Amino acid sequence: MLEDTLERRTAPALALLAEHGRYRRAISTFPSLTPVCLSSLATGAHPDVHEIPHLVWYHRGERRLVEYGSSFGAVRAAGTRQSLIDTVYGLNDSHLSGNAVTVYEALEDAGLTAAAVNITCYRGRTEHLPTRRVPVLTRPAHGPKRLFFYNLFESDVTGAPLSVRNRPRGSIDAYAAAVGRWLVTRDGFDFLVFYLSDYDYASHAQGPDAAHAALARCDDAVGGLIEAAGGPDQFLERYAVILCSDHGQTQVDEVERLEDTFPGDIVTASNRAGMVYSDGDPGELAARLDGHQGVDVVLYREGEEAVARRDGEELRFTPDGTSGDAAILDHPQGLERSWAALANPNAGELIVSAAAGWEFADLAGRHHSGGGSHGSLLTGDSEVPMLTVGLETLPGSIVEVMPAVLEHFGVPLPAYARASARA
Ligand SMILES: [Zn+2]
Repeated sequence: MLEDTLERRTAPALALLAEHGRYRRAISTFPSLTPVCLSSLATGAHPDVHEIPHLVWYHRGERRLVEYGSSFGAVRAAGTRQSLIDTVYGLNDSHLSGNAVTVYEALEDAGLTAAAVNITCYRGRTEHLPTRRVPVLTRPAHGPKRLFFYNLFESDVTGAPLSVRNRPRGSIDAYAAAVGRWLVTRDGFDFLVFYLSDYDYASHAQGPDAAHAALARCDDAVGGLIEAAGGPDQFLERYAVILCSDHGQTQVDEVERLEDTFPGDIVTASNRAGMVYSDGDPGELAARLDGHQGVDVVLYREGEEAVARRDGEELRFTPDGTSGDAAILDHPQGLERSWAALANPNAGELIVSAAAGWEFADLAGRHHSGGGSHGSLLTGDSEVPMLTVGLETLPGSIVEVMPAVLEHFGVPLPAYARASARA
């Protein structure tokens, strides 16, 4: 869609960046769902390192579900208060692995100032008191020096409007846009994450090819940053830019309830990925999904190997090699992403990736049928636009974004991180 939009010149700010930068398609992580993807962007790692497994998952240590917000119904089903606490505090304070380093931690440890606007993965070393707009949120959060999170945490008084007034009409991005303009006007950061989420929201509701108005608002928000710097020349002289999405979206028209196949087990399904937590034999459990139209691939571990199964056919794999039907994981970076998803200690015994056009109902039975969705290994969910301006590298994966940022600032990469190829 970005290419279309650039060609039709309906997105002047994005077109301006594209004119001065380099563009490619890059690959997301798996499951290609926001909390997983944003953690990958912030830490430069797949879920084997950052350990955020899904939008909804079972916490084995606390014997309960963690639901970051699949739908209002799913949040109610998991407990609204708990869900809010898990999303605002839990993800950053305890779910995100201590083995992972966030981009904010790495840059600020090197003496730079980082800022984050509305991104769910914001772990940093500065304590921020809540604004007390939501009474449940009483504890401080730990983020970069400049943290703005949906009016809940605001390190500076910016005069930005309330973010939750009217989401369908773009009030969340309007909040981000106002904060972003305030920050750029003051040149108040070395590094800024400026996260716009309304396009994803609109695309879920209207379908991935119909959310033009939301994309135009994204463009306005980016254009606002450029203006706040004094115009394109000043903006590009002052800043390098990485513009990307955290995942794709595809049209969905059919829904499967994974719970029906696994009575007695814990199923966490949302959008186009599902997990099954069970003491049963994983091979037997996976075989139950043979012939299910809604399922593309079922993944599980068997000893030192991983297995990908589709309709009775199997591919066995480790990071060192494969045996069996290689076509089963013929997805973009399919082997690497599947291995990393399974190597996450918080993942279910089974991970299920949905077939094209299908979605798995969430805890409350909600879905986006008739609209857009994402989460699977398939190309449409997994490919993202990647545009860089003023950088030496052009990341081919969202896990190469954080390393590209650290390299730009001359800060050493964490040992697990993969530098992107010079392009
Ligand atoms: Zn989404």
